[in-house]
Amino acid sequence: VHAVALFFLDLDDFKTVNDEHGHDAGDMVLREVAQRLSQAVRATDLICRLGGDEFVVVVPDMDGEIEALAYAERLTKTLELEVVLPGGHPILVSASCGIAFTSGSELQQLLTDADIAMLHAKATGRHQVFDQALDSARRRQAEETARLRTAIESGEIVPWFQPVVRLADGAVVGAEALARWPEAHSQGRDISQVIALAERTGLIASLDRLIYTQAAAALVSGALGTGIRISVNASPRQITTGLVVKEIAEVLAESGASPSMLAVEVTESAMLTDPVAAAVHLAELAEMGVQVALDDFGTGFSSLSHLLALPLHIIKVDRSFVAGIVDDVRPREVVRAIISMSENLGVLVVAEGVETEAQADLLRSLGCPLAQGYLFGRPMPLEDWPS
Ligand code: C2E
Ligand code: CA
Ligand code: CA
Repeated sequence: VHAVALFFLDLDDFKTVNDEHGHDAGDMVLREVAQRLSQAVRATDLICRLGGDEFVVVVPDMDGEIEALAYAERLTKTLELEVVLPGGHPILVSASCGIAFTSGSELQQLLTDADIAMLHAKATGRHQVFDQALDSARRRQAEETARLRTAIESGEIVPWFQPVVRLADGAVVGAEALARWPEAHSQGRDISQVIALAERTGLIASLDRLIYTQAAAALVSGALGTGIRISVNASPRQITTGLVVKEIAEVLAESGASPSMLAVEVTESAMLTDPVAAAVHLAELAEMGVQVALDDFGTGFSSLSHLLALPLHIIKVDRSFVAGIVDDVRPREVVRAIISMSENLGVLVVAEGVETEAQADLLRSLGCPLAQGYLFGRPMPLEDWPS
């Protein structure tokens, strides 16, 4: 077995050099020693000067005591030298060496810990000291990721559907498919945390695919009623990479669902990271006949130029605006402006998160065509959908 060996070297009688020839002479000797040492060790060994005339060499993979003694011999031999001072005065240098071993697994652990801390530093800042909590966080994430993967593969994750209503007469005209995972739910974790984990680990592609497949199946079977458009969510990365286009095309082809009955919801963050790529892929979706919806509108840096550049069919006004429209003039005016602008652009507006009659009345008076929220219905499993 390999062990980590530590060689502690100390120059003999170095104090005399300093005392008799001065510090410049001492420094010269130390430089010479450091240089000799660095030539004597292998690239994988580590040399450091502890201070004064003490040097340490760390060898990560020493076979045993005999090999270590031979190595120490080599080091002390290298340091048996004569340094000639500028005045022509020769000094004889020699060193003594102590050896200690530690198990390789300890060093390995140290490296692993530092590596975990470094991964954290990449995510949160430039520096991070390791502590046990980081390791348990990593372990927990690895376990959760494995469970999520299984849940996706085994179809434990299912879409629930939330009605979208026409404000004028309250008729249900659409449904948003929202992922649900009973296991996470029973542990009090909401789906946003699961989505965030899926996005970090790349599982989002297969999670979304699962939801798309089931949404398309619901369209084909007419399980939600005829003429009900189903919208699905797409994660920003899937938009900028264009993978969503391939997924949706495959799902439509496999199911035979009508593209015009499907809407894909995207948030503004996708537009922000790579607006050009996002615009290209959304145009491809629109080309396929799928509706494109801009989700959570108003929470990002909505700029009107996005709206003009994108092939949008639907804008979903974020519920943070809807929450304030009754009591607050500012969100009300913003929503009013979005509605009138959308009319001119031929885009449908859905107000999200409508919870009270007062909000619904106000939206109706502003001419908002569509709404979604607890007032009209919470997300529900397919079997609870009123038919
Ligand atoms: P979102 O797309 O904005 O979905 C609307 C969220 O608002 C849903 O939360 C819904 O349950 C909630 N909601 C609806 N009406 C009301 C209301 O009247 N009041 C309040 N307070 N909330 C309401 P949910 O289901 O927890 O989903 C959270 C987010 O997770 C979604 O936000 C969406 O961004 C993401 N998500 C959900 N399912 C999927 C999915 O299948 N794929 C992807 N990529 N993301 C998903
Ligand atoms: Ca959505
Ligand atoms: Ca939304």
